[in-house]
Parts: sequence; C-alpha cells; structure tokens
Amino acid sequence: MVEREGHAFLPLGGAGVTYEYRCPGCGCFEVRLPIGTAPESRDCPACRRPARRVFSAPHLARTSPGTAAAREREERSREAPDVVGPPPVRKRRPHPAAARLPRP
Ligand SMILES: [Zn+2]
Repeated sequence: MVEREGHAFLPLGGAGVTYEYRCPGCGCFEVRLPIGTAPESRDCPACRRPARRVFSAPHLARTSPGTAAAREREERSREAPDVVGPPPVRKRRPHPAAARLPRP
C-alpha cells in the first residue's frame, strides 16, 4: 500500500496485499498475499488454530487523531465554518512607560 494524503492506493503490479485474520485465541495478524488469493480462513501462525479473515478499512488508523480532526474541521468549514462572527476585540492598555513620557 502507498499512502498519499491519507488515502490508501493499491499498488500497480506490487508484490501483494496485506490481509488481516483474527485468531480466536491470539487476536489479529496480517499476511501479505497476491491480490485475490486470500483464503476465507488461515491457520494462526502462533497456535495453528483456524483464523477467519477480517475485512477492515486499511490504514485509516495511521492518520493521527490531531491530523484527522484538522482534516475533518477543514472539510466541514466548506459548508459550516466554525467562525460565525468577528474576532474578539482586545482592549489595549497603554504601556507603563508611556505615562513617564513628556506631555506637550
Ligand atoms: Zn492463534
């Protein structure tokens, strides 16, 4: 898989695709196989029990939560931006040294 801009692309003529299986005892493991050759179940490499194939969205979790939130906010801002009014007005206090300046 090649990741660009957070999207996963299938490689053209690549060595294979990563398939995910879940063993009832050991949990999930991944196997790299040529496209379209993944069996429905496969023996767990640790305990040799049959593990069923799991279909999951590939590599979506690679995007960090902060980046994902920023992208979601950016996409949402096209239709419903968070900013609904002008920025808050900051009251400017004169610098303390300004009081010691000579007056005309
Ligand atoms: Zn196992």
